[in-house]
Amino acid sequence: MKTVSFHTLGCRLNQSETASLQNAMEADGYQVVDAMQPADLVVINTCTVTAGGDAETRRLVHKINRHNPLVRIALVGCQAQIQKEQLAALPNVRWVVGNQRKMDLARVIAEHPDPDPAAVIAPTIKRAPFTMPTAGMDRQHTRASIKIQDGCDFFCSFCEIPYARGRARSRIFEDLVLEARALVAAGHKELIVTGINIGTYENEGKTLLDVVWALERLEGLARIRISSIEPTTIPQPLLERMGQGKLCRYLHIPVQSAHNDVLYKMKRKYSIEEFNAFIHAAVRKVPGLCIGTDVIVGFPGETEAHFESTVDILTEAPVHYLHVFSYSPRQLAQSRLQKTLPANIISRRSQILRELSRRKRRMFYESLLGTIQPVLCEEHSQGFWTGWTDNYARIRIKSEAALHRVLVPVRLVKAEDQCIIGERV
Ligand code: SF4
Repeated sequence: MKTVSFHTLGCRLNQSETASLQNAMEADGYQVVDAMQPADLVVINTCTVTAGGDAETRRLVHKINRHNPLVRIALVGCQAQIQKEQLAALPNVRWVVGNQRKMDLARVIAEHPDPDPAAVIAPTIKRAPFTMPTAGMDRQHTRASIKIQDGCDFFCSFCEIPYARGRARSRIFEDLVLEARALVAAGHKELIVTGINIGTYENEGKTLLDVVWALERLEGLARIRISSIEPTTIPQPLLERMGQGKLCRYLHIPVQSAHNDVLYKMKRKYSIEEFNAFIHAAVRKVPGLCIGTDVIVGFPGETEAHFESTVDILTEAPVHYLHVFSYSPRQLAQSRLQKTLPANIISRRSQILRELSRRKRRMFYESLLGTIQPVLCEEHSQGFWTGWTDNYARIRIKSEAALHRVLVPVRLVKAEDQCIIGERV
């Protein structure tokens, strides 16, 4: 039996696709082995959102070749869709497969058994409703992601995704419900609704709300988490439902900058006043709501004044952590030709926002002390279980009991930067 191992770079959507691809390859007669174990075939699910993602693919290919010079490598996904020729030239890379056919990898390999030079299969991505191989159990994660949507029509000026993943398209409703049922049957207590622009989900009149209501009806499922969602695409009924049923009190809403001049150049679809008004209303409506955001530092033309206003506004805003990205010009995104800022300025601004994120998360954790929250236990090490509350606080509790994938009530006792120490009640 041929052995295959997987490496996943980038976002939660890539992780969920790798979980599905592992099961599809197994169904096609491959034996899936752990990432660094020797394997006949190594698959890297690539990312090209930043220059760092591109470099990581190259670094990984060279490392894998050092471990096994006879290996055959397949590079799939976003970077494969855009940088086909560059990737095909890397050592022992036999297949470069873009996003249109990556979930069909076993068949691509059967069609091109041992190509030399590498086979490049990266056709233009069709804008059509899609289905996914049913993932069944996600071996890597306690909380399983379910992909409902792909691609994007927003074309923010810094973003490569519409070119790497194509135009917005939605998964067939019945197909995603089928997979959700299989994931719950496999023991997953929490499902994370994921995609590229999930708020634009639409299939035969069904919207994101219909997806959530359908998941709410699944027996055995305890929680539904909405992954990253664009600020202008969040329906009010979603907020009204948060914390009432299975829907987690959690929103990750990318703001990217808090200055209108920069938002305008980024071609974002809201002003900072609109963004701020929305998140203030959201925390008033949902007690205990956790709001996370993404910020890009060093976008071309971002002045010191723009940056300082971003820091001031996010310091005051009810956001509870920040994911900070350093701007890097992409191959196709519109902003690629604009003059970039010096690296030392970008890194200084990035440090300032990362420190702000540390303070905001700590303040959020302290605001939860003394409360009792259900915690979904995931990992056990050195006598402690680690898990998450529905509002995305990472909790550590001392226990030797068998609590994997179990929801336990926990009193939150002591806040630290990266977690809260709790006691089972
Ligand atoms: S909304 Fe903007 S940033 Fe997000 S994927 Fe689409 S183009 Fe990229």
